[in-house]
Amino acid sequence: MIPHSKSFIDDKDVRAATEVIASGKLAQGEKVEAFEQAFVDTLGTGSAVAVSSGTAALHLSLLALGIGKGDEIIIPSFVCSALLNAVHYVGATPILADIGPNTYNLDPEDVERRITSSTRAIILPHTFGEVANLDRFLKMGVTIIENCAQAVGARYHGRCAGTFGIISMFSFYATKVITTGEGGMVLSEAEDLLAIVRELRDYDKRTPYRVRYNYKMTDIQAALGLSQLGKLPHFINKRTAIAMKYTDAFSDLPVGLPNPGLDGSSIFYRYVLMLKESADHFIREMASSGVACCRPVYRPIHDLLGTEVLPRTERAWQCAVSIPIYPALKDQEIDHIIEAVRHACKICQ
Ligand SMILES: *Cc1c(COP(=O)(O)O)cnc(C)c1O
Repeated sequence: MIPHSKSFIDDKDVRAATEVIASGKLAQGEKVEAFEQAFVDTLGTGSAVAVSSGTAALHLSLLALGIGKGDEIIIPSFVCSALLNAVHYVGATPILADIGPNTYNLDPEDVERRITSSTRAIILPHTFGEVANLDRFLKMGVTIIENCAQAVGARYHGRCAGTFGIISMFSFYATKVITTGEGGMVLSEAEDLLAIVRELRDYDKRTPYRVRYNYKMTDIQAALGLSQLGKLPHFINKRTAIAMKYTDAFSDLPVGLPNPGLDGSSIFYRYVLMLKESADHFIREMASSGVACCRPVYRPIHDLLGTEVLPRTERAWQCAVSIPIYPALKDQEIDHIIEAVRHACKICQ
């Protein structure tokens, strides 16, 4: 079975992590600092604070912005529940918005309709590696928290995603673009916000007392992250090359293909096909051909909460399917996936 997603770990990664383990200095230390600096150098601006997960990065970003009870935060419904959790951690109110017509990213028009006098921020994911319409969102006069969990290294107008909003967060979970097993990063040019993030990430030897967290990254993870970061250009090239191959091979099929994004910004964290009917049958057919596929979002948030059905999100949830795309895929596996998709499309019609 070809797995739906998989990390790419080479000997250099193994050596980097092993050296730290052998050194006996495992906790947050100089490797974390080096990873933060290398991350800033890669993204091109700001400062960075490494944390234990993308969710922790989002939680601390909301706290740094002073968001809490009574504040409304606009988030997409077509996204993992991590966003909802972070909003709830700080006691704020999530306001769900729909995706756009030809994208899995938030629809600026629907977001605008939902802005009220209580709106404090928009959490804006660059879904599946495609940069959202930042030009439109930045003009709304609302704080933008960029969610770059799926878009590290994606570029828009010549700048990296994550350098547009007031603050941005990244995830290095096992199957993300680069990985530290679990891990996250907060990036910003606002030093006052990052000072709060640093202040809250660690509880030890700090006064005066206030509620703090243990959201630290270990030096083992940071060493792996540094090694992975060196491969980021290769990872992105590999992902976009596979995506081009898929798009060529599927252009005659009766399915919606992912768009390359504004400015060709997509780094294709996911390659998502929009089918004409429910994805279930297609997923079963692909499994019988030895290819694991899945819905790109497990369940939309409006469904988890039982709130207003957002029509484009609902359709994407029913009919969108994510096929394997990652740098660890071998050429013959890519060919096999292409054949399996063509076959499944014939059967499912
Ligand atoms: C993975 C992900 C997160 C959460 O990151 P974790 O590291 O798993 O906590 C948040 N938002 C999006 C869009 C993600 O893909």
